[in-house]
Amino acid sequence: MQKSAEVGAAPLLRARGISVEVPGSRSGVLRRRGGAVRVLDRLSLDVGAGDLVWLVGAPGSGVVQAAAVLSGRLAPTAGGLDFEGLPVAGLGRRQRAAVRRQVVGLDADVEPGLDPKRTATAIVATALAGSARSVGPEQLQRARQLLAELGVPVERFETPVADLDDAEARLIAAARTVANAPRLVIYRPWPTDVGSGLDRDPVLAALRRLRVESATALVVVSELLPLDLSPGDRALVVCGGRLVEVLPAADMRHPLHPYTLTLLAPDAAEPAYDDGAVPAARAAALDVLHDAGCPFRSGCPRAKAPCARMPHLERPLGATHDVACHFPEDPRGPTTPRAPGTGAGVAAATAGEPEEGDEPTAREFAQG
Ligand code: SF4
Repeated sequence: MQKSAEVGAAPLLRARGISVEVPGSRSGVLRRRGGAVRVLDRLSLDVGAGDLVWLVGAPGSGVVQAAAVLSGRLAPTAGGLDFEGLPVAGLGRRQRAAVRRQVVGLDADVEPGLDPKRTATAIVATALAGSARSVGPEQLQRARQLLAELGVPVERFETPVADLDDAEARLIAAARTVANAPRLVIYRPWPTDVGSGLDRDPVLAALRRLRVESATALVVVSELLPLDLSPGDRALVVCGGRLVEVLPAADMRHPLHPYTLTLLAPDAAEPAYDDGAVPAARAAALDVLHDAGCPFRSGCPRAKAPCARMPHLERPLGATHDVACHFPEDPRGPTTPRAPGTGAGVAAATAGEPEEGDEPTAREFAQG
C-alpha cells in the first residue's frame, strides 16, 4: 500500500460523489430511474487520520447506505472511494484486501456472526494472532485487556458465546473488529443507543480511546445531532440522501437547516417535545423526498417556490459553516450559546409572543 506521504496531503479516505440506488419502490423515495430508487445522492466527504466525523440523519435519510459504502460493504452505483489518494476500484486484489483491514465497519445492528462454541477471549485472541493456531500468551493477554476496556465482565471472558446475551456478543464483536487497530472505523451504534444514550455506549468510548492512542479515525452514524464534540470534529447532516449541512464542533448547538433542527437531541431544546416524539422520529415523518427540489420541502415550515430547486451547499452571510437551504436560520439571529441542558439560548430565541401573521422560524417549528 502506498504511503500517504507519497501522495501529499491526500486524506485517509475520500468519498467522491457516491450514489446508491436500490431496486423496488417504497414511499419517501428520492427519485426513480427504471424502477431504481436513489437513496444516496452524490455524497462527497474526506476523512483524515484521527478525524471524528458524524454522519447524521433520520431513518431513511441515506446515512446507513453511506456508512456501508465507506466500509466497503456496499458498492456505490456511482462515484467511488479513494484510500490515501488512490482509487480503491483501481487497486489489485491484495491492495484492496489491505484497505479492508484498515477501513472496517462495525454495525451493532448486524448479526456479529460469532462462533457460538468459542469464548470471547479465544475469538479476540484469534483476531489478534491471525489464526487460532498462532494464539500465544501475548494475544490472550491483549484480548482480555480489550474485552475489559469494552466492558465485558471478567467472569464472561471464558464463557461460550452461546451462553452470552446480545449486548455481550456485540461487545465481543467490537473487540474483534478493533483488535488490530484499524486506521478508520465506521461505527453504527445500536439504534436505541443514539442520542444521549451514546454517552454510555462502551463501544463508542473504546473507539474514542483508540482514536487518542492510535490516531484511528472514526465515522459514527447517528439519528441525532451530537452536542459535545472536540475542536476539529464535525457532523455531516444527510436528508433524503443529500448532504444538507456540515457543522463544525463549535456550531453543533446552532444548526441553520430546518431539517437539522429536528435532529437536535432532546436536552438541546426547550421546551421539550410536547407530543413525546423524539426529534428523529419527527424528522422521519417529514422526510418526504422530491425529484429535483429540497428533500425536506414537504415538511419544512419555510418552504417557498424556490425550494422546488435543490439549494447548493454554501455559507450564508455571517455563518461559520455550510448549509444547503434557500431560507436557513439566520446565523446572526438571537440563538446565543448556552450551557448544556439550560435551554437559555433557545429561550432567548423564542422569547415573546410572535405577532399575528409572523412566520414561525425553523427553530420554533422544530421545537413544536
Ligand atoms: S427553506 Fe426550502 S430549501 Fe430550506 S429546508 Fe425548507 S424547503 Fe428546503
